[in-house]
Amino acid sequence: LTSKLPGTKTSIFSKMSKMAQEHDALNLSQGFPNFETDSKLQELVTKAMENGHNQYPPDAGVVELREMISEKFRSLYGYTYNPNNEVTVTSGATEALFCTISAFVKKGDEVIVLKPAYDSYEPTIQLAGGKPIQIQLKGQDYKVDWQEVKSAITSRTRMIIINTPHNPTGTVLSKEDMLQLQQILEGTNIILLSDEVYQHLIFDQLEHNSAARFPKLAERAIICGSFGKTFHNTGWKTGYCVAPEFLMQEIRKIHELTVFSVNHPMQRAYAEYLKEPEHYLELPEFYQKKRDYFLNLIQGSRFTYIPSKGTYFQLLNFSGITSENDVNFAERLVREYKLAAIPVSVFNINQQDNSQLRFCFAKTDETLEKAAEILCNL
Ligand code: PMP
Ligand code: GLN
Repeated sequence: LTSKLPGTKTSIFSKMSKMAQEHDALNLSQGFPNFETDSKLQELVTKAMENGHNQYPPDAGVVELREMISEKFRSLYGYTYNPNNEVTVTSGATEALFCTISAFVKKGDEVIVLKPAYDSYEPTIQLAGGKPIQIQLKGQDYKVDWQEVKSAITSRTRMIIINTPHNPTGTVLSKEDMLQLQQILEGTNIILLSDEVYQHLIFDQLEHNSAARFPKLAERAIICGSFGKTFHNTGWKTGYCVAPEFLMQEIRKIHELTVFSVNHPMQRAYAEYLKEPEHYLELPEFYQKKRDYFLNLIQGSRFTYIPSKGTYFQLLNFSGITSENDVNFAERLVREYKLAAIPVSVFNINQQDNSQLRFCFAKTDETLEKAAEILCNL
């Protein structure tokens, strides 16, 4: 058998979570909360089931939920997506990414990917016959070199993928970044795939610069979101994408072929829950407290860091502790110290950045305290 993805291994998230389980370790590797999702939201799911919403919903998603997604984009970013034909509910943002890339990338097409990058982008591009063009983010704060992006564009460039707030680095794109991107894309027919799953996890009063805030970007953009990330229930695997109709109609073809439609009762519950905007507007403060709590606890450790500006991840540099590479150190940390984290080099080009680990701080205070105690003793 010839593999269609010979270079693709089991995801680092599966690997580290499995190791954490095997070694009975604290798991700050794969990004998910270890506290419960709001009981009100759980009750809404139960209510939806009791009300008989247990069969296929419309393929594009429950109408009420699409309306709420549209309303959220309008009120937060000033751009209106038509819920009928410009919003689709997907099985997590992962499916939205897969459908988008599959819908537009053809054999020989190039897709610009900024590294380090979330691990699903490149295999999906390759599966579609496309070629990822990797561009390394620069410096300790992982800035985009837009000149380099511009130089990488060829007649074969089909798409560029951005991710803000950024996994794994916790950086966010500024308004200036978005305007530079807009300028570069103007006059081309390059599609923008904007992964904004951490849109509500942004700190220090920073604004989320959604592609939807920039009409000239929005007209060529597919924006992906994730309710799992937003509402502390990654296991419900529900997300969405929004895009202008001429793009969305192609994405929906792939969506119907891959899953047809997404779990019904959860969609009903999210639609109700979204009626109270504080459910997402309170998230920056909630997660900033967690970030600060974690960083305070590790004062006095030998790790160095730049505080995360968004997502629920914090990178820690361990070069003051050991010269071994991040993969070895991460594995030793699980085995010997019972703490799991993600080595950053696996998302990078040529295993650069190999003295950083990513820690997920979407955890209870008690878990953060235990993790910090281990980190302070290294
Ligand atoms: N994009 C990024 C950057 C992510 O970190 C994740 C992880 N959840 C996803 C997409 C996928 O989101 P979902 O869990 O909703 O499929
Ligand atoms: N997005 C999550 C992370 O970065 C993991 C999702 C997954 O396991 N595929 O940790």
